[in-house]
Amino acid sequence: MADYLANVERYRVVPDIQPGDVKARIPAAPPEDPEPWEAILADYANLVEPNITHWQHPGYMAYFCSTAPGPGVLGEWLAAGLNSNVMFWRNAPASTEVEEVVVAWLRQMLGLPDAFDGMLTDTASISSLLSIVAARHVVPGLEARDRGLAGRPDVGPLRMYMSEEAHSSIEKAAIVAGIGRAGVRRVAADDQLRMRPEALAEAVAEDRAAGWTPFCVIGTLGTTSSTSVDPAGAIADVCEREKLWFHIDAAYAGAAALLPEKRALFDGWERADSIVFNPHKWLMTPFDASLLLFRRPEVYRDALSLVPEYLRTPDVGPVHNFHEYGIQLGRRFRALKLWIMIRYFGVEGLRRRLRESIRQAETLASWVGGEPGWRLVAPHHFSTLCLRHEPDDLDAEACDTHNERIMEQVNRDGRVFLSHTRLRGRYVIRVTLGNPRCTMRHVELCWRLLRDAAGSTR
Ligand SMILES: *Cc1c(COP(=O)(O)O)cnc(C)c1O
Repeated sequence: MADYLANVERYRVVPDIQPGDVKARIPAAPPEDPEPWEAILADYANLVEPNITHWQHPGYMAYFCSTAPGPGVLGEWLAAGLNSNVMFWRNAPASTEVEEVVVAWLRQMLGLPDAFDGMLTDTASISSLLSIVAARHVVPGLEARDRGLAGRPDVGPLRMYMSEEAHSSIEKAAIVAGIGRAGVRRVAADDQLRMRPEALAEAVAEDRAAGWTPFCVIGTLGTTSSTSVDPAGAIADVCEREKLWFHIDAAYAGAAALLPEKRALFDGWERADSIVFNPHKWLMTPFDASLLLFRRPEVYRDALSLVPEYLRTPDVGPVHNFHEYGIQLGRRFRALKLWIMIRYFGVEGLRRRLRESIRQAETLASWVGGEPGWRLVAPHHFSTLCLRHEPDDLDAEACDTHNERIMEQVNRDGRVFLSHTRLRGRYVIRVTLGNPRCTMRHVELCWRLLRDAAGSTR
């Protein structure tokens, strides 16, 4: 592992293979007899390691970075060795209490009040799903937990709200929670891709008049496409007036709340009912680790707790039996790696690394902004940029194809890996930074590859 991390740059970020190539080299049936460890490790080295997409590679600038520094990896090892299953206190006393401590530490690091309790989950998708189930639970008279939603003439359709830029996981949560895709209303965003609170208020009024039951609003602080930031305070005003649950998805950008100079972007999020932030994105925590914070833990427990006889334990006082607050019974000991990492780097050390990726992104932004033909197509507050090459002689449609080709050519080189999105219907190249191994040399390389590709794909 140490060799891998020291030499990860000898690999292309994305391997040059076709679907099925790896499977074709592994026996379809399991071995009847034990195999020598050397053979297993050799296959790991020859088949697995070279044929993954290297998330630890400093040239990984696609989607959002997720990197695992040494102390985090060791934390995962220790947790694997203990194999502590963090269901309830008796089954995992120290693991439960370390999780409570880590949740409280992270909450303080984010600058949120101690009215927030919380827990760790695997992903933002699950943290948001749990919150939408909690929001559903407090709809008066619904009793979805006990009575379900289908086949009930007494229940009108439920409606939740998110901006048109929100993450697909929110809509998925609506599918799972029985709200359905029809129950998700997309609120228009402004020219900076932020949810328009007036449009939200109008949508809620219109829906009430039409017989819907509005129950929940999801604000995104740092959208996945462009990292735009919904106005949390103005959305909280609407939610308070309309008695709607306010859930905040800050899966990526929440890390920036560690930085006092970025706090203003988060103003108003302390008024939310629930917040999700993924340390496994920009906070350099090995996958997986998502922080779910909530003001009313009892709502999650009332909505989701089922304790059969075989899981009953004598009352343990003020600690959480975490399985009661979510869907999973068995839970990984995710807090250990976070506890180790936060101590190893210190909060200031984490801030320094976040600031470095912001500085790198700002530098790249200045190059893009200063280069004729290139344009930054969305505001940038964090470590992610949306850019597009727009030569004068190409119309918008042709520009889409042109930028698609640029990205493909850059990715073909193999030293950096970029991804794309669409903003207002137009194809956009995304560059995201955040790997502590990424230096200005890698950012310069990315920029050179982009410019070269723009010149040669015409
Ligand atoms: C990445 C992301 C998610 C999904 O994260 P998972 O942990 O993979 O489920 C949700 N919301 C936003 C804004 C994201 O950027």
